[in-house]
Amino acid sequence: MTRWKFPFDARDYEFTPYVQAQNWIGGEWRPARSGAAEDVINPRHGKAMGKVVFSGAADVEDAFAAATAALPAWKAMPIRERAQVLYRVKALMEANLDELSWLLSHENGKTIAQARGSVLKGIECVEMGASLQNMADGGQLDVSRGVNCRVIHEPLGVVAGIVPFNFPTMVPLWMLPQALVAGNTFILKPSEKVPYGAMRLAEIFQEAGLPDGVLNIVHGGKDAVETIIDHEGIKAVAFVGSTPVAKMLYARGAQTGKKVLGLGGAKNHLVVVPDASPQVTSDNIVASYTGCAGQRCMAASVLLAVGEVDHIVEQVAQRSRELVPGKDIGAIISQESRERILRYIDEAEAAGATILVDGRGATVPGSEGYWVGPTIIDGCTPEMACVREEIFGPVLSIIRTSTLDEALAIENASPFGNAACIYTTSGAVAERALSRFEAGMCGVNIGVPVPREPFAFGGWNDSKFGHGDMTGMDGFRFWTRPRKVTVKWELQSDQTWMS
Ligand code: NAD
Repeated sequence: MTRWKFPFDARDYEFTPYVQAQNWIGGEWRPARSGAAEDVINPRHGKAMGKVVFSGAADVEDAFAAATAALPAWKAMPIRERAQVLYRVKALMEANLDELSWLLSHENGKTIAQARGSVLKGIECVEMGASLQNMADGGQLDVSRGVNCRVIHEPLGVVAGIVPFNFPTMVPLWMLPQALVAGNTFILKPSEKVPYGAMRLAEIFQEAGLPDGVLNIVHGGKDAVETIIDHEGIKAVAFVGSTPVAKMLYARGAQTGKKVLGLGGAKNHLVVVPDASPQVTSDNIVASYTGCAGQRCMAASVLLAVGEVDHIVEQVAQRSRELVPGKDIGAIISQESRERILRYIDEAEAAGATILVDGRGATVPGSEGYWVGPTIIDGCTPEMACVREEIFGPVLSIIRTSTLDEALAIENASPFGNAACIYTTSGAVAERALSRFEAGMCGVNIGVPVPREPFAFGGWNDSKFGHGDMTGMDGFRFWTRPRKVTVKWELQSDQTWMS
C-alpha cells in the first residue's frame, strides 16, 4: 500500500507543509495521466502548500475501471459487514480529530474551532451511514390471498460525488456513508482548491477495511467533472457547489439517464421582530454570518429588521467589531474571492448604503493570507446586488421593513431557498414565518438551521436541483433503486406429503 502522510504537527499552526495531491485509484496514489497540476494555496498564509493533479478523461476511466472491478464483491457483502467499515471510520476519525481539523484549517483557512466542528458533523454523518444496517429494510405486505409484495433496496453500481471547497471533509461525508453502505462503489471529485481533506479520508476508509477500488478519488476541475457527468457507466452523481454548475449538471446528467442531485448556492434571510430576545438574537446572528467567514451555504446573508429593532442591530454591530480575524474568523479561500466580496461592499456603499461595520481593511499581523473582517451594510434595498446575489463572505446586508409580511415578501422573492430564520419570543409569530418562508431549512432563533441526522439536508428553488435531499434516509434512497418483488406460492395437488 502506498502511504500518503501529511507532515502534521498540531502544535505548529503556522507551518505550511508542501504535499503533492495525487489521485487515489484502486487503493493507491497515482499521478494524473494528463500530467497537469496546479498550486494549492493555504489561504491563511497565502503560500502554496503543494500541487494538485488535474485529471482528464483517461484518469476518470482508470477510476471507473477500479470501481467496476471492486463492485461485485462489495455489493455481495451483507450490509451489516459493509456498515462495520463505517464504525471503524468513526473510531479512526475520532482518534485523528486534531489532525483532520488542522488539515482543514490549512487548506481551507478555517479557525481550528470551526474546522473541528465540521469534522464532528462529518462523524455524525458516518454514524448515520453505519446505522443503516438496522434501518434499511424495505417493507413487505401480504397484498392478496397468498401474494406477498416486498421491496429490496439495490445499489446502483458505480456512482460519483463532486464537492465544493468550503467543507473538504464534511461534504464528502454527506455522500459516502449512504452510498457505500448501500453497496455502490464511488468516484469522488474534491474541489481542486482543497484536495487534502478527501485524501486523508481515503486513507482512513482503507485503514478501516474498505476494499481497494470501492472509493476512488480523481482531482481536477471542469474536465474531470464533465467526463463524470457524461459517463454512460456512472449511474448517479451527487453535486454540492454553486447554482450554475448544479443546474448544468442536473440537465446534462439526464442525457445518460443518471440520477442527479445537485445542491446549489444560497442567499439566506434572517428576520428579526421587535419582541426578539436581544442577547440570544444578536449572538446568534453574528455567529451565523461570520462563522466559516461566511463561506457556508447556511450562513446568514440578509437581515430583515422589522420595526423598532435598533437595539438588536446595535448589539450585532458591537459584537461584530470585537471579532479578531485569524482568531475568531477564518480566511477567505482565495485572493479572487476576497476581491469579489470587497466589490459587493464597495458597490453597496456607492449606491447609498451605510457601512455600519467595515471589514475591508482586515489584516492579520505577519500573514499574507486573504482576510475580510465582519462587515454590516445597513440601509440596503432589495434591488442591490449585495441583497440579490450570493456573496459568500462575512457580510450582512440589512433591509429595514415596517411589517413582518413585508419582510417575508422580500425573502420569498429570492430565487434561492436554502435557509431562513426568524428571531422572536412569540410562537404565533414564528409559525406565521415558518409557514411562509420559501426555504427548505428553516430556523426559529437558530441562524444556521442545519438539520441534524437523521433529518436530511437540502434547500428549495435555485438552491437544489433534483428529488429528495442529501444525507439521512433520503441519501440512502438516492443511492439505491427499489426492486419490487411480488411472490405467489401455491400448493400443488400432488404434494400430498404436506399434511
Ligand atoms: P463551485 O460550483 O465553483 O465548485 C464545486 C465543484 O464543481 C468543484 O469540485 C469544482 O471543481 C467543480 N466545478 C466548478 N466549476 C465547474 C464548471 N464550470 N464545470 C464543471 N465543474 C465545475 O463551488 P465552490 O466555489 O467550490 O463552493 C461554493 C459554492 O457551493 C457556494 O455557491 C455555496 O453556496 C455552495 N454550497 C452549497 C451547499 C449546499 O448544501 N447547498 C453546501 C456547500 C456549498
